[in-house]
Amino acid sequence: MADEQIKPAAGGDIPKEQSATPGGEHIHKPREYPLVPAMAVVKTPYFHVVGYSVAGEESVVQVPELNINFDIGKCPRPALTADFCLLTHGHIDHSAGIPYYLSQRFFQGMKPGTILCPAKIAKPLSDIIHSWAGLEGKVTEHRIVAMNVGDEFELRKGLIARAFATRHTVPSIGFLVIDRREKLRADLLEQNLPGHILREMKDRGEKITYTLDVPMVAYTGDTCMAETLTQDGVRDAKVLITECTFWERDHRKRAAVGQHLHVTDLMAALPELRNELILISHVSRRTHLKLAKRVFAEATAKLAHPPKVEFLMDYAQRLWVKPGRAAPFAAVEPEIPDAAE
Ligand SMILES: [Zn+2]
Ligand SMILES: [Zn+2]
Repeated sequence: MADEQIKPAAGGDIPKEQSATPGGEHIHKPREYPLVPAMAVVKTPYFHVVGYSVAGEESVVQVPELNINFDIGKCPRPALTADFCLLTHGHIDHSAGIPYYLSQRFFQGMKPGTILCPAKIAKPLSDIIHSWAGLEGKVTEHRIVAMNVGDEFELRKGLIARAFATRHTVPSIGFLVIDRREKLRADLLEQNLPGHILREMKDRGEKITYTLDVPMVAYTGDTCMAETLTQDGVRDAKVLITECTFWERDHRKRAAVGQHLHVTDLMAALPELRNELILISHVSRRTHLKLAKRVFAEATAKLAHPPKVEFLMDYAQRLWVKPGRAAPFAAVEPEIPDAAE
């Protein structure tokens, strides 16, 4: 290794003449480095979905444009940039990164992170963050929002996170993110009224608008309940990110014990789903994606309006980070400039 050939001078700093590799590269220049593990990057018409989700190992799914992480996994570097973490349940492969996420955001001068979580785990989560103070010497500033099914939280003006019901071995919820807009009433729109008339009506206290909710993305987290997928909003979300852990025929029992979805549950729900894209996550490592995809292609071919189904980890690729840039979309390994450049 070129790095090993260069020995720092006794004073600590590397003298200029020694600071370059034989190729002319300066070793004190921060190098680009790959993110581990490989993250999936899926481009939808509305936003990107960036994540890693393998059953029992790690689940973190980020939607950068919406400023959210669904679960945090072990908190890969890009996940730091989202101000909100929507935690579905406390299993460690979904939640381990929380203390790091909060602390590292503080360290990097970002505003305190906000964690939305099932109401039943708000206290233990708070306890663990406070326990960490024994190690770090202080409690990192943070915000925990306890959510029950049906509760809504405004992420930013017009962007709402709503908790929906799931069923798992520990307290759990799923999250639906809604784009909420105030639109002019259709009858008023038809009349093409000038602005000052509308303003007068509004001043008189007349309701001139109606609320339009557009469900953008639903994330189930871990669940065993097939009805999870067919709830209002979830089945209509433009993008549905659902778990589907078990695929083998003889693994139905396992799915029931671990309270996860088996592919047959997903198949049963499919005809009712209106999603533009269904992104399958949390697939067990033992599953061959090629086989799973074929099963899906055959099942969806029979539907009148077959949904687009993709596997999140199909899009896994090694991301490369330039120092100082936290959430890149570049998925191509950068070329190492040669000495002449
Ligand atoms: Zn899980
Ligand atoms: Zn779980």
